[in-house]
Amino acid sequence: MDGNVIESDVLVIGGGIAGCVAAVRAAEAGASVVLVDKTRSVRRSGDAGRGLAFLTTYLDLGEPWDTPEVFAEWYCDIALGLVDMEVARPLGIEPLPAVCRFLEESGVPLRNADGDYERVGRMWTPGPIVLKFDGADIKPRLAERAAATDRVRIIGGVHATSVQLDDTGRAVGATGFDIRSCEFLTFRAGAVIVATGNAERVIFNSPRRDAFHTYHRPYHATTGFALAARAGAVAANIEFLGTFLFPRGFATGAMGNLLEAGGRLVNGNGQLIADLPDVEGERRFGFGIVGKAAGEVLAGRGPVYIDCTHLPPAEIAAISDYISYDAPLFLEFLEQSGIDLSRHPVEFELFNGAWSATGSPKGVVVGADGQTRVPGLFAAGDLATPAYALAGSLASGYVIGRTAAEFARSAAAPVLDASAVAAERRRTLAPLNRTSGIGWREYEHQLQDLMTKYVGMDRNEIGLRQAAEYLRGYAAAAGEVHAGNGHELMRAHEAFDLRLFDEMMTAVALERDESRFSFLMGHYRTDRPGADDQRWLGVSILAGHDGEQPVLEHTVPTPSWRAAQLENRSVVELVGERGARLAGKVG
Ligand SMILES: Cc1cc2nc3c(=O)[nH]c(=O)nc-3n(C[C@H](O)[C@H](O)[C@H](O)COP(=O)(O)OP(=O)(O)OC[C@H]3O[C@@H](n4cnc5c(N)ncnc54)[C@H](O)[C@@H]3O)c2cc1C
Repeated sequence: MDGNVIESDVLVIGGGIAGCVAAVRAAEAGASVVLVDKTRSVRRSGDAGRGLAFLTTYLDLGEPWDTPEVFAEWYCDIALGLVDMEVARPLGIEPLPAVCRFLEESGVPLRNADGDYERVGRMWTPGPIVLKFDGADIKPRLAERAAATDRVRIIGGVHATSVQLDDTGRAVGATGFDIRSCEFLTFRAGAVIVATGNAERVIFNSPRRDAFHTYHRPYHATTGFALAARAGAVAANIEFLGTFLFPRGFATGAMGNLLEAGGRLVNGNGQLIADLPDVEGERRFGFGIVGKAAGEVLAGRGPVYIDCTHLPPAEIAAISDYISYDAPLFLEFLEQSGIDLSRHPVEFELFNGAWSATGSPKGVVVGADGQTRVPGLFAAGDLATPAYALAGSLASGYVIGRTAAEFARSAAAPVLDASAVAAERRRTLAPLNRTSGIGWREYEHQLQDLMTKYVGMDRNEIGLRQAAEYLRGYAAAAGEVHAGNGHELMRAHEAFDLRLFDEMMTAVALERDESRFSFLMGHYRTDRPGADDQRWLGVSILAGHDGEQPVLEHTVPTPSWRAAQLENRSVVELVGERGARLAGKVG
């Protein structure tokens, strides 16, 4: 084996929310843990690095809407039944009360100064289950806890490129490189947890203003999916895209803060959008308020605004308070743009192509212990199927830290395959050996361009087949991508991983020959605009990759849900009515 091998019982790849919690839990279970992250410091790495303000969780304090059972029903509905509830319950739902205690013990305040929880309703939640809290420093607190935990070693500035398997197909380690020195690194471990976050940068978002086309951390590409797929794991539901409304000129999710405080979403004529009839085509941007706003733009009645000018000063002050936890720069943006919430409406625009984490059933498929199809390989957080944003990332990390430690304890000593590591070393460092060819930016940009055109919000069979053909060409072109330093090498590998993911996503979008939507996620086929419930309701498509091409399978993750819906009526009616009943709005 070339160079030193870094050893641990459990290797965690990705030190975001899920990775930090998993590292602490694995170490508390007695395992030695190495946590690697491509950022130098994990204090503010990952999506939660800039701070958050909302934790969607039941607390079981006595209200009928506040129980794990109701949360599970709601979760399954908004995920369109595409999530395996036998996995979601133990990994994403049951641990939530323990996760809340874990956060408070870590110094993250969940209550206000009076010692009370502040809770609000959102997007047809079955009651006010969204806990508002001061999460400005949630990430530093969890990173500090991980760093202070015995047996946890954090190594920053390492981009992971592969999961290594032994000759039985079990995950026994990983490889990566230092993004400054380009040193190739090998890790040997009894169990490997991948927690690299969302898939991002796949298509151009509509405003096209952000350098990497994501409002998530630009470090996210699709690496976790590619690591898992190359090792033999599968991903589910990756055909779905998300749409949000963002303040024009500023990529942040401030919509929820303003609307919850009583802000009115209005069109260019000043009409309240919620009261307007549906516009043809709006649903491809998702049901609910985002779809309706998109409809007004489609109908030529844009731009859309959120108007808070009617709110009392105390409410405006409260908005500013909460926005400062999860979108601190938004206040500066408003000030610099001369927007005073009490006097001016804020213009919003569609930001689509995002990988919506909300109720997302998308991700690497895991079982109830967080293990993928590859023995010893675990996936946690936004990367995994049953992750509901912050809550799911915390909960899955909380459980998987333990289960991975147990796996490592009971498994045989890990043995790396020296020839596989040497081959990965050659693949990893190859772009450094080329002095000319294509730069990573050009390669990534071209991928994004073709994915936006053919696999973006509007898709059809001809375009999807075209995309698959082009992507095969880009597989060959990867051999021409060059890198002059460690940073470029990282970007080159992100682009290679994007291509692999793009192939899987394109194949799945072609396979689902219908259209289907939830609140913030949708798959719209212009050639198949209707839903085909008999074939596709509650049916997931799983995608793997055999190195040459994507390999697809169908599965019904929650058969009881599918059966009940086929007998009933549309999911949207059901969710809306159930939510309203539990919130006490109807009898
Ligand atoms: C702006 C914004 C606001 C949000 N607000 C809320 C909210 O209020 N409530 C809520 O519930 N959810 C919210 N979310 C979602 C929430 O932040 C995420 O669900 C959560 O942080 C995901 O945690 P994770 O550990 O899975 O991934 P992340 O925290 O994103 O961590 C992934 C880590 O993996 C590392 N990494 C990636 N690739 C590699 C590689 N190849 N090698 C090594 N390391 C790698 C990254 O550097 C990163 O540290 C928000 C998200 C965003 C972007």
